[in-house]
Amino acid sequence: MGSKKFKTEVSDLLHLIIHSLYSNREIFLRELISNASDAIDKLRYLSLTDEKLKGLFTEGRIEISFDEKAKTLTISDNGIGMNEEDLNNNLGTIASSGTRKFLESLTEEQKKDSNLIGQFGVGFYSAFMVAKRVDVISRKAGEESAFKWSSDGTSTYTVEPAERDFPGSTLVLTMNEDGESYLNRWQLENLIKKYSDHVAYPIYLEYDQESYTDEKDKDGNPVKKSEHKKEQINSSSALWRRNKSQIKDEEYKEFYKNFCHDSEDPLFYIHSHAEGTTEYTTLFYIPAKAPFDMNHADYKPGVKLYVKRVYITDDDKELLPTYLRFVRGIIDSEDLPLNVSREILQENRIMATIRNGSVKKLLGEFKKIAENNPDLYEKFIGQYNRPLKEGLYNDWANRETLLELVRYKSSEVEGYTSLAKYKERMKEGQKAIYYIAGGKESVLKASPLISAYRKKGYEVLVMDEDIDDIVAGMIGSYKDLPLKDIKKSSSADDLKDDDKKDEDIKSADVDKLAGLLSDRVKKVIKSKRLTDSPAIIIMDENDPSLQMQQILKQMGGADELDDIKPILEVNTEHPVFAKIASASEEEAKELASLVLDQAYLAEGIMPKDPVAFASNISRLLAK
Ligand code: ADP
Repeated sequence: MGSKKFKTEVSDLLHLIIHSLYSNREIFLRELISNASDAIDKLRYLSLTDEKLKGLFTEGRIEISFDEKAKTLTISDNGIGMNEEDLNNNLGTIASSGTRKFLESLTEEQKKDSNLIGQFGVGFYSAFMVAKRVDVISRKAGEESAFKWSSDGTSTYTVEPAERDFPGSTLVLTMNEDGESYLNRWQLENLIKKYSDHVAYPIYLEYDQESYTDEKDKDGNPVKKSEHKKEQINSSSALWRRNKSQIKDEEYKEFYKNFCHDSEDPLFYIHSHAEGTTEYTTLFYIPAKAPFDMNHADYKPGVKLYVKRVYITDDDKELLPTYLRFVRGIIDSEDLPLNVSREILQENRIMATIRNGSVKKLLGEFKKIAENNPDLYEKFIGQYNRPLKEGLYNDWANRETLLELVRYKSSEVEGYTSLAKYKERMKEGQKAIYYIAGGKESVLKASPLISAYRKKGYEVLVMDEDIDDIVAGMIGSYKDLPLKDIKKSSSADDLKDDDKKDEDIKSADVDKLAGLLSDRVKKVIKSKRLTDSPAIIIMDENDPSLQMQQILKQMGGADELDDIKPILEVNTEHPVFAKIASASEEEAKELASLVLDQAYLAEGIMPKDPVAFASNISRLLAK
């Protein structure tokens, strides 16, 4: 039949593969196994639907063997197989339109970038990364004759009649120098486990095992014998593809431990199948303990992407939004092309649908657990409250659900509370959700402001996580109730008694203090909230809290933060103001400084000038 020329696009692809893909050539085995698995899928399907092929499908299997001396690797399947025409069409041209489009889209520059192409599956032709010659012996199901396709991957191939006992394909790769390194049991086992563990059909590896017998040779050394073995390497379970009702809890847990290398059972798991315009299966696990790198910028994502049970990648931060980085598990798509690259994934419409659907599913399940299983939810929130709060910050689309999921400490209840429960407990006439943020729980709970609100019968949420400050500010409102930071200037009027007039707001005490502290505070205001303590520090509405300023400074010493002055809210009923009023100029200045510095201390913040503060105190003690 002579030799035929590859279509030019195949020549281009082959050239590209052979010259640019070396960094990632081990994927060749994944590609060939997945072709084999597809071929078995096809036969399985046709044997159910096509009269001629009825009963032809027995049990799908993929067999891999190697010969170190002949330098060959053989991959054999009992799938649909190919006849002469198929061999010409499928292996002489680029069958997959996705591959063709991808190739066309590459610029000359990109073609040289092995990384870019390395992430891209190239199907059958990837065999030429490791082989100097490839023979495909194939017989199509339902036909009697077999054919052999051969090529050295340069520019031509041949097809000639061959022998084969049963339908399916056998690929014989005669390895090149690089490819020889794969011709051993351990390498092959590794690659099969790594990339094809969940291929639905068993993958057998054939190898010779040498062992010593009891017999001795004439020198008294034990005699070796060689046994031919055939062993299934993959678990071939694809647990997630089985029907939920047929999977035992134990199986889910075992799978998780294997899959995520965790010794503990997961907290819970969510298994679902979506059908419609896009079809995909997800099996998500929530680890009992937050992954150790959850709060590292370079965390390792825990969700693996499969396409039709074939593993694609586990290193893609695009599969779920960052705030769900603690989720482990699998996304298995029916519709994505197998040879999807990371770049393509990012813009892929199907992937976007899967991602949105997965987020909705996860958050929906969390909410169900919160409603129906409070004990479990408490464990969950103990680990993952913080990332969910991040979600409030950057997942606007799911804001409503996330607001139901996050939990906060409170001035009124032990442990955590939800915003919904807070709302239920609210006093009649209360118009806002009050919170205090920035700083440790003990410091926040000791704030004189909290006691003022409690006296009025208002509950205050105690937000002591470092991101609360930013996130709570972003929330704005929950079910039409504004969230108000009681340490911000806009809250200064909260507890005002309406019948009391503002007549002495510009009291002499306040004016005097403002003058004395003019270089350290923005302004001094008379408090309508404080009862026992002399003063507190609050911040202007749009200024960062003192605690936030500290964090920002630690992160990169933003100097301009020094210019942000606080507001001092003072309780003019406190005896210290009578003292200031009657003191000498110098003494008054000292006392005013002390009032401000103690307000800093009550925030858990060191006064600006601790040495001056200490000597002020000593002088006062001596009096
Ligand atoms: P893709 O798998 O993306 O379509 P490939 O280049 O890997 O691209 O394969 C081209 C075509 O060759 C496949 O679509 C399939 O029709 C055929 N093919 C490859 N391997 C086999 C096999 N083991 N058995 C039957 N057909 C195969």
